[in-house]
Amino acid sequence: MPLLEARNLSKSYGPEALVVDNVSFSIASGETLGLVGESGSGKSTIARMVLGLIEPSSGSVLFDGSPISGVSQRKLRPIRRSMQVVFQDPFAALNPRMRVKDIVAEPLVIHKACPHSELQPRTAELLRAVGLDDSALARFPHEFSGGQRQRINIARALALRPKLLVLDEPVSALDVSVGAQIINLLRDLQREFSLTYLFISHSMPLVRYLSTNIAVLHRGRLVESGSSAEICDAPREAYTRSLLAATPEIRVD
Ligand code: ADP
Ligand code: MG
Repeated sequence: MPLLEARNLSKSYGPEALVVDNVSFSIASGETLGLVGESGSGKSTIARMVLGLIEPSSGSVLFDGSPISGVSQRKLRPIRRSMQVVFQDPFAALNPRMRVKDIVAEPLVIHKACPHSELQPRTAELLRAVGLDDSALARFPHEFSGGQRQRINIARALALRPKLLVLDEPVSALDVSVGAQIINLLRDLQREFSLTYLFISHSMPLVRYLSTNIAVLHRGRLVESGSSAEICDAPREAYTRSLLAATPEIRVD
């Protein structure tokens, strides 16, 4: 059974056309699905439906076999713990008035997932896992660079030991070299914590670097999906070829 399955997902906001139109995909545990498409193609709408933040107009999302949509908040709570998200803007996601240790510890406190005495060591451990040392604990988000802030967001996302991370353009707001470091970190963390990723990006080279499989989205529809090698080396669709041609090579090593 796949860890995440989207079945015939559609979404419209009011009477206009569907912004997501009959999209289906599945992600096996430990794998990465790269969801690639240009701005406005419906990527974040899919992410929000997967996370149970908005209801699909039709279709369903299954996480570990359990439906996400049409479920009470109480039933969704344990599932929410297992599914975390990292967004594009590393600053907007961090409360500027909270110290980093409290930002990272917050999910543990809310979910009562850690005895109080263990909060500080657990938080320090999470920060070290993303490459930040203990001096980060007492500081505020504005004292960090964009890349470091995204590391803090990732530490927070890992706090509840999720199975799935939804990564919605996690490096699109960062310089290319900083973004490459974050991509490498995500790759290492995936192995270390046995994570499954839905990795969303408009950049084919980035998607290729992280993904087991790739799904290409165009105006709310999946035009093509397959293994990373199939999509990048032998694309069947002209639209996929145009995406491949549009993005320069990026070095991630
Ligand atoms: P992407 O993440 O690929 O850039 P989005 O999923 O954010 O695309 O948006 C897809 C389409 O849905 C866009 O045309 C956007 O304007 C529209 N859209 C997104 N959110 C809303 C909303 N809350 N109300 C109305 N339209 C929306
Ligand atoms: Mg988006």
